[in-house]
Amino acid sequence: MAINWTEAQIEEVIAQVLKNLGEPTPVKKEWDSTQYQGRKLIGIYEDMNDAIEAATAGYKAVRAMTLEEREKVIAVIRDYCRKESPIMASLGVAETKMGRVGHKTAKHILVADKTPGTADIVAQAKTGDYGLTLTEMAPFGVVGAITPSTNPSETVICNSIGMIAAGNGVVFNPHPNAIATSNYAVDLINRASKKAGGPEVLVASVAKPTLETANIMYKHENIRLLVCTGGPGVVKSVLSSGKKAIGAGAGNPPVIVDDTADIAKAAKDIIDGCSFDNNLPCIAEKEVFAFENIADELIAGMQKNGAYKITAEQADKLAKIVLVETKNPKTGIVKKTVSRECVGRDAAVLLAKIGVKVLDSDYRCIICETDFDHPFVQHELMMPILPIVRVKDIDQAIDLAVKAEHGCRHTAHMHSKNIDNLTRFARAVETTIFVKNAPSYAGIGFGGEGHTTFTIAGPTGEGLTSARSFTRYRRCVLSDAFRII
Ligand code: NAD
Repeated sequence: MAINWTEAQIEEVIAQVLKNLGEPTPVKKEWDSTQYQGRKLIGIYEDMNDAIEAATAGYKAVRAMTLEEREKVIAVIRDYCRKESPIMASLGVAETKMGRVGHKTAKHILVADKTPGTADIVAQAKTGDYGLTLTEMAPFGVVGAITPSTNPSETVICNSIGMIAAGNGVVFNPHPNAIATSNYAVDLINRASKKAGGPEVLVASVAKPTLETANIMYKHENIRLLVCTGGPGVVKSVLSSGKKAIGAGAGNPPVIVDDTADIAKAAKDIIDGCSFDNNLPCIAEKEVFAFENIADELIAGMQKNGAYKITAEQADKLAKIVLVETKNPKTGIVKKTVSRECVGRDAAVLLAKIGVKVLDSDYRCIICETDFDHPFVQHELMMPILPIVRVKDIDQAIDLAVKAEHGCRHTAHMHSKNIDNLTRFARAVETTIFVKNAPSYAGIGFGGEGHTTFTIAGPTGEGLTSARSFTRYRRCVLSDAFRII
């Protein structure tokens, strides 16, 4: 598919090329989040209050639709999402400078194919001596959704399908670093709505999302539910808003490999999962705990599958680059945070930062042996760097893996054929997703059974969200009738 760029996008690409050539970088222009190739994007507002008003009108239109009509809109969204996946993938990589176009394309197709629609909304019936009681899953109203930079358009489309299927309206406050990509997806939903006979503006967003626009959303009386996909800061802020909120927060997924695993397969699966979209998915493998009697074989298997092994000294050098120290001026406490210049970058780009020059086509992941306390183990890096810690037995593996997950209750992985070990780890780690003997993305329906989502709500317990997560239960009682037995 031909991809035509806006002036700003072309300048961004030129800036990158010049940077690589060692030329001075031209002043960066802001991405235009209101148009694409000169076409005005539908549903994008300067003022959050106007966006909420438009989403409220969208909600009223959805409420007036039959389920069949909602499904028609969703069918066109799926179709456009599939067809335009290369555009959104390219736009996402160019704008955020993170991830890989091929993998982002696959993520959009996954969203199109495996995000549940209206079939996810089911009623419960209870009959007895007093008649019939129905419990139905009803919409909340207008949902305020905050979306991340790591899966920007994927999350906008996945959230929209589920929220519309459930009968809601939705207004987005997308990540500022992925605003052009996110708003492209908002426009896609609106184009699909129009094509299917729905309103011209079904979902809405803002041109310049900020913490202020998020706060307007938190306080606006029309917003009945907040859904937040992002890091710990923003999840905490929505959960403190006083409104009903769904929080899909950070993880740090550990992987255990014991000595009963198919080691060659485990090595390939781990590198496949860890390097997928340069480790941006929150479910991706972030650190490995390998039994010491199979660790050498596992590492050799990873190297055969595109992993570049760095030394302990190189790992320390890289850690100082990918994690930056910031001092809180009030408390004086020094905190390490991931460098935005490194998140989601290619392994070859990260290796170049420590003076190692390799071809991007040869290596997709960096591996290293570290101890448990190493910052690579302790921090959610979201880049293709995978530390491996040797452990003596299952007790030590579970103990360290649970600690490395930091109680996020997000995702964990294990490669083993020992059902006792698998069960013990799954019970101990208490994560929302637990993947056995597969790459991490099997946990979101990519090569694994089950639906997909890009909003995995561990902290608030909805798990892998779908249409029903965005509903409230309502009871309807019919007295003394409709019990027919
Ligand atoms: P981020 O936390 O930097 O930003 C998420 C969104 O929140 C953005 O729109 C941002 O502008 C906004 N924001 C940040 N702080 C805020 C505040 N205090 N008040 C209001 N808005 C605020 O997220 P990111 O870096 O784009 O995404 C990566 C993080 O998100 C990782 O920690 C990852 O694990 C997590 N994530 C989780 C899931 C999940 O399903 N659980 C999915 C994707 C990403």
